Amino acid sequence: METLFTPWRYEYIKGKGPEAGGAEEGCFLCAAAREPDDPERLVVHLSAHHLVMLNRHPYTNGHLMIAPLRHLGSPCEATREEAAELWPLALECQRVLAADCEPDGFNLGINLGTAAGAGVPDHFHFHVVPRWGGDTNFMGVVAGVRMVPQALDDTRRRLRERFADWAGGAAAGGGEGAAGRGSGRGEG
Ligand SMILES: [Zn+2]
Repeated sequence: METLFTPWRYEYIKGKGPEAGGAEEGCFLCAAAREPDDPERLVVHLSAHHLVMLNRHPYTNGHLMIAPLRHLGSPCEATREEAAELWPLALECQRVLAADCEPDGFNLGINLGTAAGAGVPDHFHFHVVPRWGGDTNFMGVVAGVRMVPQALDDTRRRLRERFADWAGGAAAGGGEGAAGRGSGRGEG
């Protein structure tokens, strides 16, 4: 078999990457990190080292995923700073969802590696899944592909506002629920 060298692709990947550590072309989490304001990417919050986005194929409505901005396969590859940000962010996701949709419970966790059920084994992501009594078979059976995008768009808009309120409130006095990038962390 012939090996095809594609240095231009390397340049592309390097150039498009959020920062060192790399982005993977074709990785939807890296794509979301590049274009967090594109509605198609379903990003609801951006912090210094992570993004929070809706799962396009949710287990339940409001199913969130927290992913590092860098294409990391495991939390063990994260820097201390990155690692320190993850858990508080997971708790904030839980709070936001609790306020937004009042679930009866939550599943929180990470599937690491294909054997553990990871859909994207090279870019780890932390799931925050709101649960309701009796929801178990509901989404898989009833939720058609067509109804999901509409629901996702509404949910995206709502959650972005909630996260913006939270981040804005932490940074300034909080105001009109600032739109846009939602990370009230100031530049730099
Ligand atoms: Zn990635």
